[in-house]
Amino acid sequence: MSAPTADRPLNIAIVGAGLGGLSAAIALRRQGHLIKVFEASLVNKEIGAAIGVPPNAMRVLEAFGYDQKNLRSCDYRGVVTYSAEGGERKAMMFKDQAKHYGRQGCFCHRTALHEELKALSSGQADETYEADVVIGADGIRSTMRTVVLGSSVVPPATNMCAFRWTVDASKLEGRPELDWVLKDGVPVGRLVRGDSAHIFLYPCQDATLVNVTMMHPDARDQDKHSWYSRVTQEDVLREYKDFGPQFKAFIQLAEDPINLWQLRAMPLLPTFTRGRLALLGDAAHATFPTLGQGAAMAVEDSAAVGCMLPYGTKPEEVPSRLAAYQDVRKTRDDFVRIESLEQLMIPSKRGLFLRSVEMQDVLNGYDAIAVTQEHFDKTFIKC
Ligand SMILES: Cc1cc2nc3c(=O)[nH]c(=O)nc-3n(C[C@H](O)[C@H](O)[C@H](O)COP(=O)(O)OP(=O)(O)OC[C@H]3O[C@@H](n4cnc5c(N)ncnc54)[C@H](O)[C@@H]3O)c2cc1C
Repeated sequence: MSAPTADRPLNIAIVGAGLGGLSAAIALRRQGHLIKVFEASLVNKEIGAAIGVPPNAMRVLEAFGYDQKNLRSCDYRGVVTYSAEGGERKAMMFKDQAKHYGRQGCFCHRTALHEELKALSSGQADETYEADVVIGADGIRSTMRTVVLGSSVVPPATNMCAFRWTVDASKLEGRPELDWVLKDGVPVGRLVRGDSAHIFLYPCQDATLVNVTMMHPDARDQDKHSWYSRVTQEDVLREYKDFGPQFKAFIQLAEDPINLWQLRAMPLLPTFTRGRLALLGDAAHATFPTLGQGAAMAVEDSAAVGCMLPYGTKPEEVPSRLAAYQDVRKTRDDFVRIESLEQLMIPSKRGLFLRSVEMQDVLNGYDAIAVTQEHFDKTFIKC
C-alpha cells in the first residue's frame, strides 16, 4: 500500500527557460503541478546554432508529445571523417538507430527545438511565487548552484574553445571543391581532424543550413577574456592555416562576425540537490560538446524530475524525491561529463564515441523515463 497522497498540485518554480528548464516545465506540468518559469534574459531566444538530438533525448521528447516535423531536422546516421591536411576520408556509420533504439537521431536548429519546447510547456499562467519545489535550470553560470552547494563553483578554464557559425547550403552550389560538405556519399555529419583542431559540421533546417563547430586550443588566458566573443573570418583562417585547401575554401564562406565560445565544463559536484531545491542540465553538469549529449542530459534530467514528483506528492515528501532524482541521474550525468572531456583532451580516446558501438548503446539506448520509474517504484511504492 502506498502512503496517502496530497490532494493539491505542487507549486514549482523553475529558474531558467533554456532547453532544460522548458523540458522540466513540460514534464512537471504533465504531472498536474503548477509551474512558474523564471527567465533572466528579456529576449528568451536560444543562442547558438544547431544541435544533435540523439535517440535517448527523442524518446523523452516523444513522451512530451513533440512533433518532429517542427524541428525541420536532418538524420544523424554517422560521421564522415577527413584528415585535415590531405582529406583522407573514412565513413563511420552508426548502426540502424530506428531499428535498435526505436527512433533515428537527428540534427536540428536549436531555435526550432526551443520553440517546440516552449509551445509544449506553455500552460495556464500561475501567479504563485511561494514554491514547494525549486528547480535550478539556469545553465553553466548558475546562481541556484551556489544556493545548493553553499558556495560558488565556477567552471575552470580548459584552454579549449570553439568557433561557431552557420552557412546557407545554397552557397555550396556550383563549387565542386565543396562537394565534401553535403554531397560526398552519405548524408551525415562531417569531422575534419587535425592534431588538436577539428571541424565538425552537419546540415539542419531541412538541409538548407550547414552548422559548423570548430574546436581547438585557446592561446589566450581564458580567465582574462569573456566566455563569449566575436571574431572575423581572417581569425578563423589563421587558426586553421594548416588545413587542406578544400577546408579553407569552406571557411571562406563564413560571414563576420563569427562566434567564439570558450569551452568550459563543470567540475563533478558533490550533490545536485538540497532539500526542495534541485539542479538540472548545465547548472549541474555542463559538458563539452564532444558527445553531442549535453542538452540530451538536460532533457533526461527533466523527465526524471517529472517521474519523481507525480501528482499527489506532498510538500514534505519533496526532499526524499529529489534525493532519489539525484540517485538515478548523477552517475549517468557525471559519466557523460567525464567522457565528453576525455574524448577531446586525451589523444588515445579521441573519437571513441564514433568507434564504440557499446558507448553508443549506453548513450543512445537509454530510456530515462523507464529507468526512473523503476527506481521510483522500488524506493517509494511499499507493497
Ligand atoms: C558548441 C556546443 C555544441 C553543443 N552541441 C550539442 C549537441 O549537439 N547535442 C546536445 O545534446 N547538446 C549540445 N550542447 C550542449 C547544450 O547546448 C547544453 O547542454 C544545453 O543547452 C543546456 O541546457 P540548459 O537548459 O541546462 O542551460 P542553458 O541552455 O544555458 O539555459 C539556461 C537558461 O537560464 C537562464 N538563466 C541564467 N541565469 C538565470 C537566473 N539567475 N534567473 C533566471 N534565468 C536564468 C539563461 O538565460 C538561459 O535561458 C552543445 C554545447 C556547445 C557549447
